Order: sequence, then structure tokens, then C-alpha cells
Amino acid sequence: MISGISKRKVLLTLGGVIVIGVTSFEVTLYTYSTLFKQNFQSAFHKGFQQQLNDTSQRIITLSSDLSVCDKDAIVRLRDEEFFDLNSRLIGWLEDNRQACTSRPGYSHVIIEKPNILNRYIYEEDIELDVISLLDGRSQLMLTKKIGDKRWFSLLEPWTLYFSAHDCQNCASVSIGKQPGHPVGFYLGDIPVSFKFNIKTIHNFYAKHAFILSVVSICFYIFVLSYIVIWRKNQHQSPQNRLKLAIHNHEIVPHFQLIVDSRDNKRQHCEVLARWTHGQGIMMPNVFIPLAESTGYIDLITVSLLNQTRIMVKENNTICQEIIFSFNLTPSQLERPEFVQELLDFCHPSPPFKLAFEITEREPFQDPKKARLVMQKLSQLGVLFELDDAGTGYGSFSYIQELGFDILKIDKMFVDTIMSNNIKINVLDGIIEFGHTANITMIAEGVEYEEQADYLRKKGVFLHQGYYYSKPLNQKAFLNKLSTTELVN
Ligand code: C2E
Ligand code: CA
Ligand code: CA
Repeated sequence: MISGISKRKVLLTLGGVIVIGVTSFEVTLYTYSTLFKQNFQSAFHKGFQQQLNDTSQRIITLSSDLSVCDKDAIVRLRDEEFFDLNSRLIGWLEDNRQACTSRPGYSHVIIEKPNILNRYIYEEDIELDVISLLDGRSQLMLTKKIGDKRWFSLLEPWTLYFSAHDCQNCASVSIGKQPGHPVGFYLGDIPVSFKFNIKTIHNFYAKHAFILSVVSICFYIFVLSYIVIWRKNQHQSPQNRLKLAIHNHEIVPHFQLIVDSRDNKRQHCEVLARWTHGQGIMMPNVFIPLAESTGYIDLITVSLLNQTRIMVKENNTICQEIIFSFNLTPSQLERPEFVQELLDFCHPSPPFKLAFEITEREPFQDPKKARLVMQKLSQLGVLFELDDAGTGYGSFSYIQELGFDILKIDKMFVDTIMSNNIKINVLDGIIEFGHTANITMIAEGVEYEEQADYLRKKGVFLHQGYYYSKPLNQKAFLNKLSTTELVN
């Protein structure tokens, strides 16, 4: 159950981290590539207009200088001034379909097979053609008629280079009807599509996307932890919180020594439940009533028994002589499943000297049945103590019928010892009864030497109280057992 819950939480966290991480990574990339594309489009548009204007201007300049296709003209056409990254070829076509360019091979191709895919009239005397070359590549050709000559320039807008970034951020542009390319915008009616290398964008923006993903994952973990803690603290019912605490072993035993005041020997100790959570400790009066009303008290008792068994096993030398007594309510002894658990625990004999304290504050519904259970456990060596004697339903016959071995005199009577309280007579009466019934007595809540002296004089030798020791956690209890000093 517990491992199931934590497994679910782990899977939920892992799944969430992966989903949020991947999603934010993708969202960031998508956002950046969209921005990148928009910027690229407008830069391309601007750059291309500029290129058309420049080329047109160059043609005008050349046309005023050149009229005959001679050696000088070819040198002039090769001039760096007219040749740049985006303008591969410049020259003119003559009426006889000859060309005058810096690179005759190219002119030949153009003249032989000018397969025009698209035509765009840029200005009145300027045409822009998307042509297909013999090698299958398409290219852009600007033509402008000046006098009897048709000037042309092969443009190279395929690669736009942004000087702001290194060449990692180059992107290619296709002009024409290229299948499979999303159309970015139209130049006239010629579709211009952009082909982005997603890896380029990815590499460039991966750092941003990664940072955003990490931030998102942290945020997700924060929100998830908050929800988990909030659910744990706010939404779980007190019952569920108690159940979880039992499973998580947050309910631990504390031990209070019971001392023989004649020789200061530690004979007994009472096992008292404590709920540890974080640094704090919750006292039993806060959660025992809830545990009793929900039935979880059975789980608590079994857990305390087991924890004590382990402690005794690991520290047998100092623990073996001690009788450990556990609190039981009468109703617990009337639940068959719980009784069976006790019988199993004590079979074939209890793993340590064991006693059960049964409070007198609550009555048994069926004393005869209880008597049988107590008998079975007694036969296995378990002792029974009547807790809070004098405060409830107990009577001479009740105590004798049920067969208690020990009677624990409640603190409220011990408290009367140093006062003028008339109830001291009640204490004397209980002690008297104990002697008559020949039953061992333990006095609870002994806080002062005078109380210890009074009880000793009255023949009550076993004392439990802060005068001797407070309830201690396991470590402190084991420490105390290995020392000889008794009185605090
Ligand atoms: P209780 O059975 O009467 O236990 C004795 C209580 O008196 C303990 O309180 C103990 O710490 C306290 N006490 C002992 N000596 C002195 C002293 O000198 N002065 C004062 N002021 N108090 C002293 P604690 O541990 O708070 O337990 C309260 C009650 O919770 C117990 O009363 C018992 O009824 C119940 N309880 C504790 N653990 C369990 C458990 O495992 N099962 C059940 N059913 N009830 C438990
Ligand atoms: Ca008790
Ligand atoms: Ca008591």
C-alpha cells in the first residue's frame, strides 16, 4: 500500500517532468522558430527589393558604357563591382540570341534552354523570370530592355546571409513552384518559400529552450510538492493521517520505568505510545481517543509490541529481566481478530516478559468472554494489570473474577498524599483492599519523595512516576537501563 503510493508518486513526478520538459522545450523552439521565420521573411523581402534595385542600377551603369561585345566589355563585365554573392552573372542578349557575359558557358545554357517557370513584371521595363536550367536547378533572371539590348542578370537569392549571426543561421529560400515547400509569401504571383534548417534553429535556441524547460520542471516539481504537502496536511482526514502514521512507523513506544522502592531495582516498565512527526511529538491523549474510536488502536498495539520485541532482541542483556506492560482497552480484548493476533504474538511463549494493563475506566461488555481470553494469555505467561484502579467500574468481585495479577493505583489518589485532601482515605482503602486480596500494587504518578515514603510505609513498593523517571524514548531508555543511578 505504502510502496504503491510512493511508486505512483514517483511515476507521476517522472511523467510530469518528462511531459513538462518536452512540452516547454518544443513550445520554446516553436516560438523561436516562428519569430525567426517572421524576421527572416521581412529581412528577405527588404534585402531582395534592394537587390533588384541594385541590379537594375548596375545594368543602367553598364549599358551607358558598353555597346559592343569585345574584350574590354567582357573584362568590364567581370569587374567586381558587378559581381557579388547574389548576382552571379550579368550581361546582355543580342537580337541574334547571342549573349555577352563574363562567363560564356552560362550564357549558352540560358540561350539554349530558357525554360521560364514564372514571370513577374517588376517594373514597366523589368521582368523577373524563374527559369529552369539544364541541370534541373531553378534560378532567377532579371531582364531589362535598354535600347536594342535586353540586359539580364542571374540572381542568387538562394542563400541569404545575416551578418549579425554566423553561418549557422543561414536559411535557404526557394522561389517558384517547388513541391513540398510551405509558401512563405508571394512575389507578384510567384510563390516564395522558405526552407529552414530546423537543426540550425534548434542549435541556436536550444540553450534558451533548455533553460525554460528547467525552469518549467522546477515549477512543476514545486507545484506538485505543494499539492502533495497540502493534500497530506489539509485534505487527509485525521483517520487517514493516523493510519498512514502507523504504517510509516511514526507511532513509537516510549518507556517509563517502574521501580521497586526498597532496593531501587527496575522491575517493570510501561510502554506508552508517542506520535513522532518531524521534530515534534504528539502525546497519546491527542490521538489515542481517535485510535480507539476508529479501531486503529489494534494496529498501534501490534506495532508497539513488534517494535519492543525488536528492541529487546537487540538488547537482550539489559532488557531480559524487565516486564513490559502495554495498555489495552476492554473492547480490544473483545475483538476476536485482535485477540488472535495477541495469541499468535505470544505463541509458544511471549518474546519478552509481557503484561497488559486494562483500564478500569471502561467496563467489559462481556466479562465472562474477557475472562476466557485473559486465561488463555495468562497460560502463555502474560500478566494482567488493572490500570487506573479506583477510578471506574472495578470492584472486589470484578478484580477477582477477571483474575488480575497487579493493581495500578491511579495518580489522582497518589496526588492526595501531600495534601489535606479527604480522598487520602480512598487511597488507604484501595491499598487495604490490595493487601486483603493479596495482589501486587503499583502506585502511578509518584512525583515526590514524601509520596514514595508514604506508599512504602503502607506496603506499596512498586512506584511509577517522574520522581524516578519520565517516559523515555528507546535510546534514552536503553541508556538509563545501563546506568545504576535511578532517581532523577
Ligand atoms: P496511563 O495508562 O494512565 O499512563 C500513565 C500516564 O501517566 C502516562 O501519560 C505517563 O506519562 C503519566 N505519568 C507517569 N508518571 C507521572 C508523574 O509522575 N506525573 C505526571 N504528571 N504524569 C505521569 P501518557 O504517556 O500521556 O499517557 C496518557 C494515557 O494515554 C495513558 O494513561 C493511557 O491511557 C493512554 N495510552 C498511552 N499509550 C497507549 C497505548 O499504547 N494504548 C492505549 N490503549 N492507551 C495508551
Ligand atoms: Ca497505563
Ligand atoms: Ca494509569
